[in-house]
Amino acid sequence: MSAQVVKPRIRGFIATNAHPDGCAANVRAQVEVAQASLPGTGIDNVLVIGSSTGYGLSSAICGCFGYGASTLGVCFERPSTEDKGASAGWYNVAEAHRLAREQGRSFETINGDAFSEEIKQQAVDALKARFGKIDLLVYSLAAPRRQGADGTVWNSVLKPIGSSHSAKTINLRSGAIEERTFDQATDQEIADTLMVMGGEDWADWVETLRDNDLLADSFRTVAYSYIGPQATQAIYRFGTIGHAKEHLEATAQTLNERLSADLRGGAWVSVNKAVVTQASAAIPGVPLYIGILFKVMKERGLHEGTIEQIVRLYRDHLISDGVPATDDGGRIRLDDLEMTPEVQATVDGIWNEVTTERVGELLDYEGYQRDFRQIFGFDVNGIDYDAPTEVHRELS
Ligand code: NAD
Repeated sequence: MSAQVVKPRIRGFIATNAHPDGCAANVRAQVEVAQASLPGTGIDNVLVIGSSTGYGLSSAICGCFGYGASTLGVCFERPSTEDKGASAGWYNVAEAHRLAREQGRSFETINGDAFSEEIKQQAVDALKARFGKIDLLVYSLAAPRRQGADGTVWNSVLKPIGSSHSAKTINLRSGAIEERTFDQATDQEIADTLMVMGGEDWADWVETLRDNDLLADSFRTVAYSYIGPQATQAIYRFGTIGHAKEHLEATAQTLNERLSADLRGGAWVSVNKAVVTQASAAIPGVPLYIGILFKVMKERGLHEGTIEQIVRLYRDHLISDGVPATDDGGRIRLDDLEMTPEVQATVDGIWNEVTTERVGELLDYEGYQRDFRQIFGFDVNGIDYDAPTEVHRELS
């Protein structure tokens, strides 16, 4: 495929293309933060499931560039074809590979369905051949569906449980504030979402590594969760996805008991802050909340993106000799700044007041939209968007 001028094709929360140079610049910026904030050595081997975008990408970057770990990532991205460019996550990973090679580090990727036995086996084979025992497993999957070994397909839905629910949302195409009603989930939808976003597959990965003698002596593992504000609770925390996250959190407790008994290791869920990612843009109410939250947190100098959050997670909790600090539910709380009562009270007040006419004044909507375009490599400083660029990038 030849060099092309790549212009954004984005509608609402759907983007159908990505700019390779913008994605590469984003990765370089994250690597700079990781290298400026972390020691450069300290972990031998890291495995990240969901390694190409969002929290998983930052986790892989912190492992490889922040602690010098040989890093294996698993993700589900679209490479370029004859007539179509690759997905943003593909370009991200391609740049992470290139930088790692340039700096003499090891960063590998398996691109395929992390739920499948085939991809788990490929990861085991790669680890045995070129890595060794794993010190840290990060589980950062955000998937819309899962296919079981027998062909059963489970789809994840974002719906309230118990009754339908009306909520304020922002229409990402028009910027209008709208009231939308969400039907309550069926029992089947609740169970299916748990199969996709609950803890079963995370536990499977740990078991697979254990069965293959790939857990290091003080192996640690973390999966990511979210709680969020009152305003999104009916849809998020008390809805189908929150139900699945409760299962993920219960899985952490079970894994933690087993790992701390057999090894000197442990398992935790980290509750992270709301950030703009492909996954969060699709959750009803969350883009509106994030637009308000960003304004409030930026005004107070508290704003963080995925890389700042993961730097904190590794430095203060996971890669230290001590046991991570947790809340009463055993969860690491990286959402501590987001959830301070003062921030939440201010966000709540704005949430109640906001109308279409006041979006520009009350939200950091511009910041939300820019972050969203930047996920796909657009609107990134220093990129010449009129210049043709090679859209075929290798994971070498
Ligand atoms: P994201 O959409 O940016 O990333 C999802 C990752 O999963 C990508 O690397 C993608 O390739 C990979 N993936 C999806 N399906 C896959 C499959 N079948 N096989 C292999 N890889 C697959 O998502 P994100 O927002 O960073 O979310 C990651 C985790 O962080 C989720 O558990 C999410 O709930 C949690 N979290 C997100 C936020 C937020 O605001 N975005 C806040 C707190 C916690």
